[in-house]
Amino acid sequence: MGCGKTSSPDAIFGEYVFSETVMKARLSKAAFKVLKATVDAGKSLDTSVADEVASAMKEWAIEKGATHFTHWFQPMTGITAEKHDAFISPVGDGRVVMEFSGKELIKGEPDASSFPSGGLRETAAARGYTAWDCTSPAFVKDGTLYIPTAFFSYTGEILDKKAPLLRSVEVLSSQALRVLKALGNTTSKKVIATVGPEQEYFLVNRTQYEKRLDLLLTGRTLFGAMPPKGQELEDQYFGRLRIKIGEFMHDLDTELWKLGITAKTKHNEVAPAQHELAIIFDPANVAADHNLLVMETMKTVAKKHGLAALLHEKPFAGVNGSGKHINWSVATDDGINLLDPGTAPIENPLFLIFLASVIKAVDEYAALLRLSVASAGNDHRLGANEAPPAIISIFVGEELDAIIKSIISGNPYSDAGRVQTNLGVSSLPVITEDSTDRNRTSPFAFTGNKFEFRMCGSANNIAEPCFVLNTVVAQILSEVADTLEKATDAEAEAKALIKDFLTAHERVIFNGNGYSDAWVEEAAKRGLPNIGNTVLAIKELKSEKSKAVFTGTGVLNEKELESRYEILLENYTKTINIEALTLIDMMDRQLLPATLGYSLTLAEIAEKAGSQSAKNRLTSIVSLADDMDSKLTALKSAVASGDGEDAFATALYYRESVVSAMEAARTVIDEVEKVMPADVWPVPVYSDMLFRV
Ligand code: ADP
Ligand code: MG
Repeated sequence: MGCGKTSSPDAIFGEYVFSETVMKARLSKAAFKVLKATVDAGKSLDTSVADEVASAMKEWAIEKGATHFTHWFQPMTGITAEKHDAFISPVGDGRVVMEFSGKELIKGEPDASSFPSGGLRETAAARGYTAWDCTSPAFVKDGTLYIPTAFFSYTGEILDKKAPLLRSVEVLSSQALRVLKALGNTTSKKVIATVGPEQEYFLVNRTQYEKRLDLLLTGRTLFGAMPPKGQELEDQYFGRLRIKIGEFMHDLDTELWKLGITAKTKHNEVAPAQHELAIIFDPANVAADHNLLVMETMKTVAKKHGLAALLHEKPFAGVNGSGKHINWSVATDDGINLLDPGTAPIENPLFLIFLASVIKAVDEYAALLRLSVASAGNDHRLGANEAPPAIISIFVGEELDAIIKSIISGNPYSDAGRVQTNLGVSSLPVITEDSTDRNRTSPFAFTGNKFEFRMCGSANNIAEPCFVLNTVVAQILSEVADTLEKATDAEAEAKALIKDFLTAHERVIFNGNGYSDAWVEEAAKRGLPNIGNTVLAIKELKSEKSKAVFTGTGVLNEKELESRYEILLENYTKTINIEALTLIDMMDRQLLPATLGYSLTLAEIAEKAGSQSAKNRLTSIVSLADDMDSKLTALKSAVASGDGEDAFATALYYRESVVSAMEAARTVIDEVEKVMPADVWPVPVYSDMLFRV
């Protein structure tokens, strides 16, 4: 898969994907039928056809240049994991044949003992296994056949992020179908959670990236003074793509298209050096796989172009961080988008019951949704005066708001009619205003025919927020179905439920400015949770409500919840610990030596030339260096006393003591950086990284 050559997207699209078309062409009719039915039903493949499928897959993959295969999975840490096995199998006399069996396709046994299991594997069994998710297509990348899989312990407990997503997709489908059926729809056979993620990222020059240990090890700069120019002019947002960036994006698109990923829009973001890539929506589990591939491909293509793609939520303090907008909806297999209001939403009970259910789910399980996007990196965004706030609220727009109000009050709704915006230029079309205007500050916004969950961090696996959202909505839909199935007049009962739900959960609707302090106060009055950091968010997994919803829907059992709690806390602590150790290393070995070296130079000039300005600078540098040294000592001792009573206490300690010791060190370092000669400061500064891409 080289880069640089221009091919038409439709010619290369899906070239490296074992798609339905490829399957059809290469499998016997009987095997194709079984496989297709399996994929459509989301079941696991019958072993009777597995050998034929595996063999066809292998032949196809070899033609695409593959020599290996891998069960590709999403463990609880890191992004993805893969272990490559060659297709070869010895046949004696020193020769090998290329082999790949149905058994190898369906199930893998990675030596997984060093993946986090939060105690599950120790108690259950020593190893885990991976199982093919045949609803997400296999593909060839870098000479390897990739088989998307879910990761389990031997006793069947989930050890990854993919499996709960698959479970949640199934529960959502079955509960939504119950509601549809109760309301008279008998034609839909499946309901699909559709997801379209938008990925933000930064690009920096690779040479500079490699000079910063903090970027290499932690993904973010741990210090760095603000450059004279930041994002205040907003001249970057949607600005012209620079040639170098344009070339990178072109190659990125090409690589993604080959993998069957619908890379659609790309543009510059608000912060300098920040960009975004959106793909067209897919079923949730495929979207999660595709987003992971987008992230990985961004990194590898950037490297080829002498760039580094930064996916961390906050690579640079003082300029916007990066997130991921998760566009989410529910659609039936026969093409009904259940969140599409149609032309007259007030007369559309199906839309209203799904809308009201989502609103209720988001309000009741706000803390779980907050947890689903919590990470050490995302703590720099959520609740830190940046988009979006940590309080979960829903934006519905003017039209829906009026409809909701009329339902709650019982007053008739008068459709004001959509406003026609005449742009006053005859060559431009007259446009009908969207029924929802854009509200960029809302964490959960209704955007016409879908919701947009905007709290996810740029580095997170979207499987997490997607499975939580699916689960909590499925829970409410199951309650709706319980009621409707018992009712004599289901439609009237649905209307009553819509009114009940909207009345009880109106408090979560907020159409104003989510960044304002007034909203924080108002939200507190409304009783909406405002969970300020990851550690506190993780605690939510222990609540009775979380347990009930996950075990009730069958998405996670108690053991799995317990293990996830431990793993999430450990991940948090480890992340902060690595950041602290990296900062200590850089201060000890780069920053303090450079500062002290410079003070020696100043001392010489002051003495030899009797320079007053050198003397002044020397005094201030010496005192800054001492300050830096004492902050370094404090940071070291904060890290040294890091072991708490249990995982929660340790994580909370890291959040409270280690993070603040790092911040204190950073403040001094940034002061020093501002007065150090450019050629003496040992690492690239913000203006180098943000404005010299
Ligand atoms: P924005 O202005 O936020 O960029 P777009 O219209 O470009 O909005 O769409 C953003 C994302 O929403 C795309 O990934 C798109 O595929 C996705 N999207 C559109 N409709 C749906 C839907 N029904 N379900 C899930 N995602 C959707
Ligand atoms: Mg968007």
